[in-house]
Amino acid sequence: MRLGFHLSIAGSLLRAISQAQVLGCQALQIFIQNPRAWKWREIPRPEKDAFIAARKLAGLGPVAVHLTYLPNLASVDAALYQKSRERLAQELALARDLEADYLICHPGHAPLSLESFQRVARGLAAAVEQIPPPPLVLLENTAGQGQELGWLPEHLGLIMRLAGVPLGLCLDTSHAFGAGYDLRHPGGVARLLLEIARGPGLERIKIIHLNDSRAPLGSRRDRHAHLGQGTIGLEGFRHLFSHPWLRPVAAIMETPKRQQADEWRNLLTARSLISTQMLPG
Ligand SMILES: [Zn+2]
Ligand SMILES: [Zn+2]
Repeated sequence: MRLGFHLSIAGSLLRAISQAQVLGCQALQIFIQNPRAWKWREIPRPEKDAFIAARKLAGLGPVAVHLTYLPNLASVDAALYQKSRERLAQELALARDLEADYLICHPGHAPLSLESFQRVARGLAAAVEQIPPPPLVLLENTAGQGQELGWLPEHLGLIMRLAGVPLGLCLDTSHAFGAGYDLRHPGGVARLLLEIARGPGLERIKIIHLNDSRAPLGSRRDRHAHLGQGTIGLEGFRHLFSHPWLRPVAAIMETPKRQQADEWRNLLTARSLISTQMLPG
């Protein structure tokens, strides 16, 4: 399993690559637009080519793009829904242009109903039919904050069945804990993986978002913490990574960013966690 961080592209896409190299990452996640604005920055062809070349030279892979925050693929507001669908297709096309491997998105915010899941599925299907993989679109589990859909694996499985196009899964550990899966104990890990097996399917898990949590179990709140300094704790991650059913391509950390020492510490911790994983026998 390859390890990396979500890194900033402030200024230029190349900034994330050089940061990843400094940290010794194998995998990388980025936003490809300002995550808190609808405004679109046209990326010049030379910057795209430089990104692709630098990424190859750095041996970085997989590269995942996280959809920006404003699109809501479940929105009941027709105008916002349409805008969100267009934005998804636009970011997916750019991610393809940048030769990214995955595009990760959350299901969206809406009242819990079949119609809400159908809206998400229609939006995803339209985008994937227009821009087929790669990049593969990954749906991410959420903590279920407010009206956020997707805190249960069965939500994600339902969206995938309704969409009927190739989709993968991104499993966020802090979101799963917030949603009520007690990863501190082998039983909680087993319950989560069993529900994924019954819903979307274990083979769909491509990326783990490896985050500890600052929120209590089942609080339905989304608060990330440094590995081993949150409510999940290192024992929990050990249970998760020692489970034979979990074989993601990469683990990406979205831990708080205050100083670079934090990144080094998280990376060392993550390495020690997965060093026992995937040993033969
Ligand atoms: Zn996410
Ligand atoms: Zn989160």
